[in-house]
Amino acid sequence: MQTKALVLNAPRDLTIQEVALPPLTGKDVLIRVKACGVCGTDLHLFHGDQGAFESSYPLIMGHEMAGEIVEVGCEVHTLAPGDHVAVDPNIYCGTCAPCRRGDVHYCENMIGIGTTERGGFAEYCIVPERAAYLVPRDLPFEYAAMMEPISCCLHGLDRSAVRPGDTLVLVGFGAIGQIMFQLGELAGAARIIVVEPVAGKREKARALGAYLAVDPVGGDLAKTLHDHGVTHINSVIECVGRKDTMELAIRLATPRATVMLFGLTPPGTKLEVLAFEDIFKKELTITGSYINPLVAERVIALMASGRLDMSKIVTDRVPLERGVEVFTDPAYRTLGKVVIGDFP
Ligand SMILES: [Zn+2]
Ligand SMILES: [Zn+2]
Repeated sequence: MQTKALVLNAPRDLTIQEVALPPLTGKDVLIRVKACGVCGTDLHLFHGDQGAFESSYPLIMGHEMAGEIVEVGCEVHTLAPGDHVAVDPNIYCGTCAPCRRGDVHYCENMIGIGTTERGGFAEYCIVPERAAYLVPRDLPFEYAAMMEPISCCLHGLDRSAVRPGDTLVLVGFGAIGQIMFQLGELAGAARIIVVEPVAGKREKARALGAYLAVDPVGGDLAKTLHDHGVTHINSVIECVGRKDTMELAIRLATPRATVMLFGLTPPGTKLEVLAFEDIFKKELTITGSYINPLVAERVIALMASGRLDMSKIVTDRVPLERGVEVFTDPAYRTLGKVVIGDFP
């Protein structure tokens, strides 16, 4: 069958065109894509940057997708036409050594929908049954599409070990920081402090209920924290992916804190960590978070329960026909999460 899709033919060469989909095989499902989120990874792929995936052209990007099942292969038993699903784009083999250890996100044969395989910036997409997760019918598709990015954040939050009563600092308040904020609240953080240079994003943090939203540029950050009674920080989550903001996250951490370097950096980025001041004297745990292993069900439960305010996460919607704009117009970069699709 044919589908309309945004096709990346070469770096920065993105067009909308008709492409042929292969016939549906036994364990696959055909999805009518209703919504697909645009992620930093897609922008890296668009620009041809080196990244986490080995991609080849032409490529249909889009790995944050939700839609309705229209057809299932003869060996599919858990899903049926009409079901609403969200897709976990990372398909592990289950057979290699990391998979057998349970470290499925380190699968040696990982397939990535929308990064190595045809993705969701299209009207239709074929995915394996096990990549498609049933979601409630009353969950809007544009929200269901957020399963993947929220899963990445939840894995990071799990690894930052936030407990009830903790003080959590978020460095950066873009789409990721805003998701982390809600997850941090759900994990029980009593005070969430947002460090963000853009005034509009600080306003957003205050509106969400941040204990403090401070500008890291100019002013004395340490004094501001002190004046607001913040003498100890349990976790710092860096949500930007730059050397300077990562080093800031490490400097801000107080003794025994966990520093989660969540933002995606270009390969080869070096950080200055002080062996005496940061590691020895502060006993910091500095860690990272890679993809989103086995957390999709929890994210669906959070979305279905209404405990995540999804209206604060999805900020802009663009039909597939105008999808190219999202990549070429820098105005989209200042927003939160842009979703491409023709939802409900
Ligand atoms: Zn993503
Ligand atoms: Zn594997």
